Amino acid sequence: MLGLLQEAGHVIVPDAADAQGVLVNTCGFIADAAQEAVDTILHYADLKKSGDIRVLVVAGCLVQRYGKDIMEEIPEVDALVGTGDYGRIVEVFSQVEQGGCPACIGDPGWLAPEGGARVVSTPRHFAYIKVSEGCSNRCSYCLIPSLRGPQTDRPMEAIVAEARRLAESGVVEAILVAQDTTAYGRALYGRPRLAELLRHVAAVEGLKWVRVLYTYPSLIDDELIDVFAENRKVLPYLDIPMQHGSDRILRAMRRRITRQGMIDVCAKLRRRVPRLVIRTSLIVGFPGETDRDFSDLLTFIDEVRPERAGVFVFSPEEGADAATFPDQVPAELAAERRGIAMQRLAAISRSFGESRIGAVETVLVDGISTESELLCTARSYAEAPDVDGVIYVGDATLRPGQFVDVRITDAADYDLAAEPV
Ligand code: SF4
Repeated sequence: MLGLLQEAGHVIVPDAADAQGVLVNTCGFIADAAQEAVDTILHYADLKKSGDIRVLVVAGCLVQRYGKDIMEEIPEVDALVGTGDYGRIVEVFSQVEQGGCPACIGDPGWLAPEGGARVVSTPRHFAYIKVSEGCSNRCSYCLIPSLRGPQTDRPMEAIVAEARRLAESGVVEAILVAQDTTAYGRALYGRPRLAELLRHVAAVEGLKWVRVLYTYPSLIDDELIDVFAENRKVLPYLDIPMQHGSDRILRAMRRRITRQGMIDVCAKLRRRVPRLVIRTSLIVGFPGETDRDFSDLLTFIDEVRPERAGVFVFSPEEGADAATFPDQVPAELAAERRGIAMQRLAAISRSFGESRIGAVETVLVDGISTESELLCTARSYAEAPDVDGVIYVGDATLRPGQFVDVRITDAADYDLAAEPV
């Protein structure tokens, strides 16, 4: 949307205080995210009331889910853009400027025009590349397929061309994302082709690191493992949302793999990929989750030992099948289970960090730390931006985007300290 607006002559400013119009792009797939989006919209609605901004447009999943309510409840909102209508963003701003109040909420599903302008909102040295939109899985707790539509893939050449453009502009780390990256290719080519895509993106001159997020465990096959094992630029870091460790709950979630299947995939990956780091996400408090299921989850964590993890409390979302399942787990019990699981995972993360003390590692500098002007924050292959911890390096002269060798000197639960060597 920013790319289209910029192409049409709008000037994008990073601070809303300098803007005449504000576009709020929303998440809305669980209640907490929807609340955060509503709070943001209300904040800008206040700025509109006080005359600090003239135009307020809201886009994204919250609009797709609750568009009419937003218009009725927050009259300061000038226009709505659903997840299938991002391509109309320029027209929407023009209509608002002419006194209109458009609500574009069609069917979900939209791919950005290939080769179109893109405004990268991450720091200059890394960028996310969306390889597909939507999801064709039907996990019983998830609204994403209804908010974003079935999976639609971008052509492989277009993704590689985008990677090339990004590398030419200074990006050294490309992070491939989709709702399910391992399914990439199935919609467009009839079979998953992530392994091939990774090889092509890794061959782009200038890119040093290629990272992949959101892989589905049942689709991690030998061809894909080979790429992680053999391609020097594809980082040995796998983000595999596993969701639970009890077969009963996995079935109810409509996940297409068993506990043992995931244990086997992780064991094979660890055998084949040196230095592998596994990240996962888990859900506790799913309807019907008994003490026994939860203890299965804990033994599953002990077996897989993911170095990185997030644990979420099940959120019953209107429209998702699991919201109507019997035996909903009380919120207090679910929160308690989350605390127990997080504690166990923090200990695994810490022991991984401690095992690295004394080692020399290559890190990518992100910039001066917000904690101290004397430190830089950096990441190794084992830390993805935003979701994982960081490495504090005791040298404030390093530049963002610079690779540097450091010796790890200390480890907390998630963050590390290091000195340049
Ligand atoms: S694979 Fe992910 S995005 Fe797709 S339905 Fe399942 S949880 Fe939702």
